[in-house]
Amino acid sequence: DRTLPQLLEHAAATWPDRVALDFLGASTTYRALLGDAQRLAEALRKMGVKPGARVSIMLPNGPAFVTAFYGALLAGAVVVNTSPLYTPSELQHQLTDSGSETLIMLDTFYPRYEQIREHVPVRRVLVTGIQDALPFPKNLLYPIKARREGTWVHVPSSERVMRLKDVIRSQTQGAPASARQPGDTALLQYTGGTTGTPKGAMLSHRNLVANAEQARMWMQGLREGQEVTLAAIPFFHVYGMTVAMNLSVLTGATMILIPNPRDIRMVLGGISRTKATLFPGVPTLYNAINNHPDTAAHDLTTIRACISGSAPLMQETARRFREITNGANLVEGYGLTEASPITHTNPIFGQQHEGSIGLPFPGVDAIIVDDQGQPVATGETGELWVAGPMVMQGYWQRPEETAATLVQHGGLTWLKTGDMATMDSDGYFRIVDRKKDLIIAGGFNIYPREVEEILMTHPAVLEAAAVGIPDEYRGESVHAVVALKSGQSVTDKELIAHCREQLSPYKVPRSVEFRSELPKTAAMKILRRELAKDARE
Ligand code: ATP
Repeated sequence: DRTLPQLLEHAAATWPDRVALDFLGASTTYRALLGDAQRLAEALRKMGVKPGARVSIMLPNGPAFVTAFYGALLAGAVVVNTSPLYTPSELQHQLTDSGSETLIMLDTFYPRYEQIREHVPVRRVLVTGIQDALPFPKNLLYPIKARREGTWVHVPSSERVMRLKDVIRSQTQGAPASARQPGDTALLQYTGGTTGTPKGAMLSHRNLVANAEQARMWMQGLREGQEVTLAAIPFFHVYGMTVAMNLSVLTGATMILIPNPRDIRMVLGGISRTKATLFPGVPTLYNAINNHPDTAAHDLTTIRACISGSAPLMQETARRFREITNGANLVEGYGLTEASPITHTNPIFGQQHEGSIGLPFPGVDAIIVDDQGQPVATGETGELWVAGPMVMQGYWQRPEETAATLVQHGGLTWLKTGDMATMDSDGYFRIVDRKKDLIIAGGFNIYPREVEEILMTHPAVLEAAAVGIPDEYRGESVHAVVALKSGQSVTDKELIAHCREQLSPYKVPRSVEFRSELPKTAAMKILRRELAKDARE
């Protein structure tokens, strides 16, 4: 039973000289990382950041993120992850809802804060730029782009606005160990971007450490102090935070920090330059690598293990990725913010069931229930509920939503996931789809995922989403939105015919819309809700 800063203290004591962070070729050891985090904690403490105070972090993956996260926690604060994609009004909502008096952000995002600063409780801003993290070594992959993004913003310094680097340098000594307990809240992780009003899931140190420990147990064969993790998925989402950052700190892995996962050349360069061994990701990312023209020129064979989470992994994506990495173990997992986040995965060296999310993590209880909360028979579809040490404490200042999501039963606290699932007789789970995304056409239930799987099997299709649109006769009908692979073409009639070959008539899309790219969340998840809204309008 440990706190997150205790994981970093352990790493710095066990592997002091091991590279903790590699940022485009610039490296930081575990000893130096802990030192920076401790000095930041001391500075925050002196500025009046009290235990339990909220510190918002709005940064892409980079050394500043890891330092700010562990530094704030060492000061006893609660970190509030803030998406760099937020608009000023979304930022305002989150800063106000969380009551953040401290904000640590990238200088290029500062103008968005400036627009709302009169309306938020923030009292101090610590800014950092990409140039603060880099000595610009010769082997830097993207000097021009990075430099441009880092220096074109002029942030005037004042008592309220300081440079993160100066704040850390101002301290010669680190803060004494934080007095926080494992049961204290460590993180407010806002969720609901794809489904509705954002609310802050309160995750304790115990929740987050438990999920990293569960992931370690699951990754049998993980070599402590030797792995190299490609950290492309964002740390400001709890999936990247747990599997790319906290699991690395727990096991002394080197993190290869990729600030922009949409830049596939940067991702490919990161893997081949550092001989990365672990690569947690999301289906859209593996899919983009599979289809990128530069992929063939990079050696990806050092990758041994990958976990894919956050959205369904299409069979074709997994098969192709295993091929280009010469057999990396790419397994599908499942989770949600409220569970820190992983609850299920396929065993990495055991039997995998394609199309399934695998087995519950060690220490996780999982059941499938009907609308009355009664367990359904094996193989039947119902809502997935999970319990275990990684389940959140509740939603920040939202007792009603908390009561609707966490239920006490049989001595356990169950988290209602909002996902429809099945369990096979051998204990493997499958996600059918989100409960809310169900399309009802002429009285038939259609889960969009099934339609999307078929659309994706068409050789010209890069990404696909199926959504329900109003239909006079059927109530709703299926509308498909697709993006094509570059250089490919197909008509709506051809795609509909392709679906008709493989789907019952009521599931076949009535209309198809082509886009150059599908809208995605910052965590690279396709935004079905937005597509459905556009289609309805
Ligand atoms: P937000 O945009 O705020 O992140 P969200 O509803 O997507 O909103 P998350 O907690 O990020 O919230 O994502 C959890 C959801 O992602 C799950 O409830 C599930 O619907 C989906 N999901 C995660 N992994 C898988 C998977 N392997 N297969 C299918 N769906 C998955």
